[in-house]
Amino acid sequence: MDLNAKIYVAGHRGMVGSAFVRRLRRAGYTNIITRTSKELDLRDQAAVAAFFTEEQPEYVMLAAAKVGGIYANNTYRADFLYDNLMIEGNVLDQAYRHGVKKLLYLGSSCIYPKLAPQPIREEYLLTGQLEPTNEPYAISKIAGLKMCEAYRDQHGCNFITVMPTNLYGPHDNYDLQNSHVMAALLRKFSEAADLNLPEVTVWGTGAPCREFLHVDDLADACLHLMLHYDGREPVNVGTGEDLTIRELSGLLAELTGFRGEVVFDSSKPDGTMRKLLDVSRLHGLGWHHQISLREGLARTIADAEWRRLLAPQ
Ligand code: GDP
Repeated sequence: MDLNAKIYVAGHRGMVGSAFVRRLRRAGYTNIITRTSKELDLRDQAAVAAFFTEEQPEYVMLAAAKVGGIYANNTYRADFLYDNLMIEGNVLDQAYRHGVKKLLYLGSSCIYPKLAPQPIREEYLLTGQLEPTNEPYAISKIAGLKMCEAYRDQHGCNFITVMPTNLYGPHDNYDLQNSHVMAALLRKFSEAADLNLPEVTVWGTGAPCREFLHVDDLADACLHLMLHYDGREPVNVGTGEDLTIRELSGLLAELTGFRGEVVFDSSKPDGTMRKLLDVSRLHGLGWHHQISLREGLARTIADAEWRRLLAPQ
């Protein structure tokens, strides 16, 4: 990828897409193409075709998707399926039709079977039942991943697929209902510490384990794969380390200075008990995460983005 190569980052206002743009700029890439969802609705086939005809991107990093935490996934089941299928179908097909040199597609650790052996290797995909709360999202993402493989097999497209673990960092969604656990807890603990509240409520039993990666590390890994990986197989991207939601709550209490009580609301779903990625393929490709959980959380707490988002404009 030359530094003046035309790279389309789809979803550049999201947490992952904005991290891609920051990382590419820092590496010296000068010709990055973006569109807001208002300017280009990726669910609209004709609009996506017109965009590719006009811009003729050479590379595509597809970070546009409908995403959310356990509540959103379970509630907006139809939207998750429809929006993601349309986005992937349109972007992947147009990338093929316009001779895109390479495309990066994002799956997710939550599209592996609910009861996959741990740590999860890439080949465990489609070997068992999915977690019911996010089945529509998972089905849509698996369809896109299989589309990448099929376009490679049938048309020789260099479409690579990446499976990120749970992410956090700038431009996350801090809505308390629809966010993922990390954003929700970062906000809950910080606000409770600031306001000296007596307790913080954490969903579920606290027993499930999750692995977390700072989004700047994901962007770094994806650029590494754009430059050094042309394989058909998906590549897990994570730290290879996890902790329980209870342990995460303890760490957040410590880092935010919250001294009250942590209450577990077991009427809320736990979801999958564990989903730790096996990152040996990624390590074999020469990439290792840089940002430790403690450092990444301290940075995110210091940034306190949710305060600006909540402040009256
Ligand atoms: P998942 O990783 O796809 O299951 O989705 P989440 O990131 O939303 O949730 C992960 C785990 O964190 C689940 O066991 C939740 O019950 C738990 N959790 C604890 N507190 C919260 C919270 O405030 N919001 C969310 N979304 N999850 C929470």
